[in-house]
Amino acid sequence: MFFNKGGYLILNYEKPITLHVGIDDTDSAEGMCTTYLTCIILNKLRKHNIYPVDYPRLIRLNPFARYKTRGNGALSFKVEVEDEKQEQLIKDVTLEYVEKYAMFDGVNTNPGVIFYKGEITDAMRCYAQNAIYEIYTIDYATKFAQENNIEYHKFKKGRGIIGAIAAISLKLTDQTFELLAYRQADKYGTKRCLDDESIFKMNEITYPDTFDNIDVEQNYTAIEPHTPCPVLYGIRGNTPEAVKKAHTIVKSCEEIEDYCIFRTNQHTDMHMQEDIPIKDMKQTGCYVFDCEVVKNPYDIKGGHVFFEVSDDTGVLTCAAFEPTKSFRDIVRKLRVGDKLTIYGGLNENNTLNMEKFKLNTVADEYVYENPVCKCGRRMKSAGKNKGFKCPNCKEKIRSSDKVKRSIKREIEPGFYEVPTEARRHLSKPIIRITTGADMILKNQQDL
Ligand code: ATP
Repeated sequence: MFFNKGGYLILNYEKPITLHVGIDDTDSAEGMCTTYLTCIILNKLRKHNIYPVDYPRLIRLNPFARYKTRGNGALSFKVEVEDEKQEQLIKDVTLEYVEKYAMFDGVNTNPGVIFYKGEITDAMRCYAQNAIYEIYTIDYATKFAQENNIEYHKFKKGRGIIGAIAAISLKLTDQTFELLAYRQADKYGTKRCLDDESIFKMNEITYPDTFDNIDVEQNYTAIEPHTPCPVLYGIRGNTPEAVKKAHTIVKSCEEIEDYCIFRTNQHTDMHMQEDIPIKDMKQTGCYVFDCEVVKNPYDIKGGHVFFEVSDDTGVLTCAAFEPTKSFRDIVRKLRVGDKLTIYGGLNENNTLNMEKFKLNTVADEYVYENPVCKCGRRMKSAGKNKGFKCPNCKEKIRSSDKVKRSIKREIEPGFYEVPTEARRHLSKPIIRITTGADMILKNQQDL
């Protein structure tokens, strides 16, 4: 214990204490990005010789959250603090930067910052997982913070504390990494200048350790945002090494101000709830479930494709919406009797917005035709209930029953997913499943 120049009592902790910092809701459609704000806070702390333990985290929460700007992401980082002074400095810098850089003019920008010292509890883990599954109110998050010794700071309505608490608390059972490169401030709002050829090359060299950086179907690069935010590009991958390597290959003709790597629950399917029967599914929930097609696909206005499935507890309308492009052509090939495992979210119209599906069993499909005559010609109806007659040799058949013929199905068992551009941040690309990349963390934890 000692006194600093100002005469304040400084506590030296017996052993370092983990300080968790959560930040959310600082950006708007007009600019800023909470990832960037986190990155510059960490840079400022480094100048004070304060270093985070581990990568900062970018945690995606319920994709149906009403006030999200884009992908409902919240940020966190943690530091082992040695004394009260250090702890106060981290808090001061974080709050100062949020006040300075958050887009306070945005109608739906309501920043929230939280600080928490110590081990994350089971109750906090549970809160975080449910912030992905469900929709919370600000009051609920405030009460939760009060009951769990979480220091919270609300700006405007302070809605950000909902996500900020979840960002520090979520247990990752699978993870990916995203490297975000940021632009010089004078470039904000202008067209981004990236060398597409280098992005394709990067993909060739680093895929599948990196993924979702090219939209293969449309053959265009998918790493740059189309908003006036500070992000120049984001590279997604399974490991920090993979995204760093990819970053060295990508060329841009504008100067990069800085970059930051985030540990994230993106592309993990952490939003998918298992073992929920159709009858118990709720709006804004995302589910993975087995079912059978009970109504063939049909097109509706706007280019959307719908069909119906059942799991014996209820019937559900599933949709491949227009932005999912060629995924709709695959969905159009489904037929009654096909057995599927579907991944998707239930929207406010009780329609399941499909992200991917696995076709487990392909049902037989038949057409019913007039019989073929001995002479080889197809017979014609001889009149209602009068059987068939050959137009060539006049041969007759008394039965009016058509002949059932099996037709070749145009789809095979396997996984099918929406294209990169239509993919939700949380949605796990099939390549992470087929390469086993999604099992790495699970296996490590098993050891
Ligand atoms: P970006 O991806 O550009 O950072 P965003 O899409 O993450 O933006 P935010 O600006 O963070 O959007 O706004 C989302 C708001 O929704 C935040 O205030 C966050 O706290 C809140 N929120 C997050 N999860 C939930 C939830 N489960 N229920 C209700 N509100 C939530």
